[in-house]
Amino acid sequence: MSNVPELFGSLVFNQKVMKDRLPKETFKALKKTLDDGVPLQLDVANVVAHSMKEWAIEKGATHYAHWFQPLTGITAEKHDSFINPQDDGTVIMSFSGKELVKGEPDASSFPSGGHRATFEARGYTVWDPTSYPFIKEHTLCIPTAFCSYTGEALDKKTPLLRSMEVLDQQAKRILKLFGKNVKRVVPTVGAEQEYFIVDHNLWAQRKDLRMTGRTLFGAKPPKGQEMDDQYFAALNPRIVKYMEELNEVLWKYGIYSKTEHNEVAPAQHEMAPIFSTTNISVDQNQLTMEVMKKVAKRQGLECLLHEKPFAGVNGSGKHNNWSMTTSDGENLLEPGKTPESNAQFLLFLTAILKAVDENQDLLRITVASAGNDHRLGANEAPPAIISVYLGDELFKILESIKDGKPYATDKQAKMTIGVDVLPSIPKDSTDRNRTSPFAFTGNKFEFRSAGSSLSIAGPNTTLDAIVAYVLKEFADELEKADDFEVALNALIVREVKAHWRIVFNGNGYDESWREEAHKRGLLELKTTPDAVAHYLDEKNIKLFTETEVYTKEEMESHYEIKLEKYAQILNIEVQTMLEMINKDILPAAYKYMAAVSKTVIDLKAVVPGAKAHAETSLLSKLDSLVDSLAQKAEALASKHAEAKIKSDVMAVARTYADEVIPLMNETRAVADEIEPLLGEEYKPFPVYEDLLFRI
Ligand code: ADP
Ligand code: MG
Repeated sequence: MSNVPELFGSLVFNQKVMKDRLPKETFKALKKTLDDGVPLQLDVANVVAHSMKEWAIEKGATHYAHWFQPLTGITAEKHDSFINPQDDGTVIMSFSGKELVKGEPDASSFPSGGHRATFEARGYTVWDPTSYPFIKEHTLCIPTAFCSYTGEALDKKTPLLRSMEVLDQQAKRILKLFGKNVKRVVPTVGAEQEYFIVDHNLWAQRKDLRMTGRTLFGAKPPKGQEMDDQYFAALNPRIVKYMEELNEVLWKYGIYSKTEHNEVAPAQHEMAPIFSTTNISVDQNQLTMEVMKKVAKRQGLECLLHEKPFAGVNGSGKHNNWSMTTSDGENLLEPGKTPESNAQFLLFLTAILKAVDENQDLLRITVASAGNDHRLGANEAPPAIISVYLGDELFKILESIKDGKPYATDKQAKMTIGVDVLPSIPKDSTDRNRTSPFAFTGNKFEFRSAGSSLSIAGPNTTLDAIVAYVLKEFADELEKADDFEVALNALIVREVKAHWRIVFNGNGYDESWREEAHKRGLLELKTTPDAVAHYLDEKNIKLFTETEVYTKEEMESHYEIKLEKYAQILNIEVQTMLEMINKDILPAAYKYMAAVSKTVIDLKAVVPGAKAHAETSLLSKLDSLVDSLAQKAEALASKHAEAKIKSDVMAVARTYADEVIPLMNETRAVADEIEPLLGEEYKPFPVYEDLLFRI
């Protein structure tokens, strides 16, 4: 690969480019917008736009696009060329400040959850200057937020920025109590992205992969992931080549792709970037997913981002590493070295415990999707129950605080916050509890429930909002206190006690944890409809409206959209399943049965006394399986028809979750019994062994 530092960010209009190319005054004004959130003036925008256009044209761009994240969860872009026709029949390439800061895509084709009639479908996009513009395939992409003219957010970025704002305000109030005046507090995120790579030609032969992103059929191969020989194994040459190009492209986009390795499952891999400010991480993760798919296609491969592409093989998640950093560079989740910073750390930690405990439902909802439902609680990903893992050391510290007991045997003093020095809390990398949905990992929390294809905007908006909400309560209380230290101690002890049930350091895959969790009164929301049913609970509306992260109307539309999307996915899955049964699986079985039958007839003609036991028993086995498959398919089709005509979205989703999915599983089980019985050349499509091991 060529010079990496030179390559890095070469397609990005970043601060270095801005500094190099913008007039000093303009750069200074823009920097104020970037650092302090001061609104951008139009005259400044005009200069920036001009310089951006010149830079983009030098890099081969002909178009620009406002790049935004509608509620579909993927990114959208509307391309316009820089061409500006002149009177004399020529064109000039132009780009104004107005075009940079604001765009007007037609909003009617994006989901709004029935909230906005098509005739008022007017929305506009606004530049988020804190996320750098970049060039993608001859287009200058400008990261933007997408709102309606009535001020409602039509996208995922707007609420995310609002949540960052409220977290900033409330965290600063807390820091002030500790005598710190910082300019800004930003949440930081590093999103580890898991994915599968399969051969393109094999992929193309499977309708389910093409239509739904996952296999709807497939018997377990003789070798699965039980050998554990794939994790960190030497990479296959095609994968090496893939990762090389992936890194190169990501680096050009200024994405700090840092680690890459095989995952536990065959054909599964992971890319972890270095963390950055949340809105940038969100944009970069969206871009990463797009690049992953494109690079794979270019190399005759396919990148699967579905949460569960293969039954019986680990699914893919996205670990959302989250913390908060001040503009002075202090990580607020770094355990402190002095009594004061310990107390501050413990207060933020307590706020997070309380926020997670009180909003288990919101955290579960924010990762709910048809795909992720296959993963959560399947003994490979965190359970559908939300709990917090603290690691041994921190667990013991908080336990001693809660119980008012001495912390360690050698240290007789009772733990009084703000007075004792915390022992250094090791980043325990050996005993990382992989089964916990929300784990403290030394200086950040890792929210592990997100699915691989999900936009992390939602989970981070929720995280920022729930933590900000609690920080506000804490600040309200502590600002009024006469003696800060006494009040702080009392608050921490009280809240740790109150929310201790959310702390769980054990094995989340253990069946006994489910029982224990139920006893503790923790929620177990197994399916998307189970989870989404809580979204509009009064508590949640109060939290999001008071923090001004979502309006009630926005929440109502999210509720509809989440359920609609769930139903749409299942609708496609069922239809694909039925088509594959009728067009691929049954015909393949009939063909094979015909061939075997003919063998029997021919054999008997040649050898009159031949018994043909094996052949006839195979035929009768196939006959009954084929019969059973046809019946199951029919039952599935009629239940599906029933689900579709329900008038209420929740009722539709419920029918899919409770009745259609179990039928899909039963149907699949029969097909998976047929598959290994068919002769190699009668296989209707590539099987698991091909997909997972032939690369
Ligand atoms: P792991 O053992 O899980 O790979 P790492 O410490 O390497 O853990 O970090 C995993 C991810 O967490 C990386 O994407 C990293 O950039 C991110 N990360 C590290 N520190 C922070 C932080 N303060 N805020 C957010 N993410 C962070
Ligand atoms: Mg991790």
